[in-house]
Amino acid sequence: TTVGVLRETAGRERRVALTPDGVARLRKLDVAVLVEAGAGARAWFEDIGYEGAGAVVAGRDRVYADSDVLLCLHPPDDVAACRPGQVLIGLLNPRSNRDLMQRLATAGVTVISLDLLPRTLSRAQAMDALTSQANVAGYKAALLAAEAYSGFFPMLMTAAGTTRPAQVLVLGAGVAGLQAIATARRLGALVTGYDVREAARADIASTGATVLAGPERTGKEGEGGYARELSDDEQSAQQSALDEAIPRFDVIITTAQVPGRPAPRLVSENALSKMRPGSVVIDLAAAPDGGNVEGSIPDTRTVTDAGVTVIGAANLASTVPGAASTAYARNALALLTHLMPRGEVVLDLDDEILAAVVVSHGGALTRKEIRS
Ligand code: NAD
Repeated sequence: TTVGVLRETAGRERRVALTPDGVARLRKLDVAVLVEAGAGARAWFEDIGYEGAGAVVAGRDRVYADSDVLLCLHPPDDVAACRPGQVLIGLLNPRSNRDLMQRLATAGVTVISLDLLPRTLSRAQAMDALTSQANVAGYKAALLAAEAYSGFFPMLMTAAGTTRPAQVLVLGAGVAGLQAIATARRLGALVTGYDVREAARADIASTGATVLAGPERTGKEGEGGYARELSDDEQSAQQSALDEAIPRFDVIITTAQVPGRPAPRLVSENALSKMRPGSVVIDLAAAPDGGNVEGSIPDTRTVTDAGVTVIGAANLASTVPGAASTAYARNALALLTHLMPRGEVVLDLDDEILAAVVVSHGGALTRKEIRS
């Protein structure tokens, strides 16, 4: 079996799906590895390192032509090069890329998307790329906030006087939010967290951060441990509570998502207009069609008339490319080991993990919610 590693084609993407260390592990399983030239360069993994680990570095055409399994993060922009029977593994966001999934299915490609992993299954945890990447993003969000904020995060006592610590509010306390909370606390900020899920509120408290008092506190758990979308009434109660709380904070980091739905709007223009000049809002959910923060633009830093810096930070994991690639490669390896127990691909669709992550096989889409 040959596993191929594609260079990411998305503009600002710096991660790579497999590291030289991952290559070495695959070689131990007697799997051949083809790495596209330059695939790891933007994460500081040079071709020579891949070769040293036992991979063959080749042009993109050869990687497509000679690989049985292809690894990537985002969907490549030239998937038409995939061959029937080939397995494509990535974080492909199939719910938002239905046409692409249909085309790959029709082309006979077996598509596996790690974002469909059943995350509460303990056997699947080593493969959980959403968690590993959200962890990196949450960490970087706190650093980015500290950098953009006009004050210090910690309380500093100097001869020139004492500074008060920054008041940081993290909205959405899943994987990214909890890591943002932990990182902001390490930097010395006073951190408050908020989530609609009861379990997440307990997680906030366990980090030592304050749980935001105010927004109504009933559990809003949906399927698979995820949040569900709020009803109109719940949403307006949440909005007014947050509008009142937000202006008390110097830094807001938002990470709220509801699977399969647009990200909930948590920071309104009204709340933004009442924040102090020099304060910062980081929106990890920023997307072309909205985000958690009104007016946030993906990958863009704007300053409101009131002097509040708003940063749309949709893909922060890519900005810590070494750590993020290393973690992703381990997730991909765990999946590959599961998929190829003896070095050959065995696609057992009765297996709970594979049944969840396989999007297409044998010329058809296998997950009904992806069929348009
Ligand atoms: P996510 O990215 O889907 O959402 C981030 C957070 O936003 C969630 O905590 C969610 O509750 C919150 N949220 C949604 N709507 C909100 C609103 N209106 N206001 C405030 N907060 C809102 O979540 P995630 O980080 O991917 O994690 C989702 C769940 O999966 C969590 O329960 C997490 O513990 C669970 N998980 C479990 C495992 C495991 O068991 N191994 C691994 C990873 C994640």
